[in-house]
Amino acid sequence: MPLYMCSKCGSVENTACGGYWRQQRDANYAEDFKPLCSACYPEIGKWHGDFPQRLAEGFVQSKDGFIYRQSEADGYFKHMGPFTPITLPETAPQS
Ligand SMILES: [Zn+2]
Repeated sequence: MPLYMCSKCGSVENTACGGYWRQQRDANYAEDFKPLCSACYPEIGKWHGDFPQRLAEGFVQSKDGFIYRQSEADGYFKHMGPFTPITLPETAPQS
């Protein structure tokens, strides 16, 4: 299941855990749709706990908006490229 970055806090989130598909539907599949993680998405409102919450720093993004570790972008998921480096949202916690 693909990973994406929360548009508010910059966390790595999984489409299966963060309500991604529901958020996309509620945004009418807009191209500039800004997905949230489970903690920032008001309908869930807390981190799911299936994996530790962490910033997407160092990840790269494909054109469809999903994110990958650099090693994945260089390897198994190479066909999903081209990739661009992640830019954390301004609202992300500063490291
Ligand atoms: Zn978030």
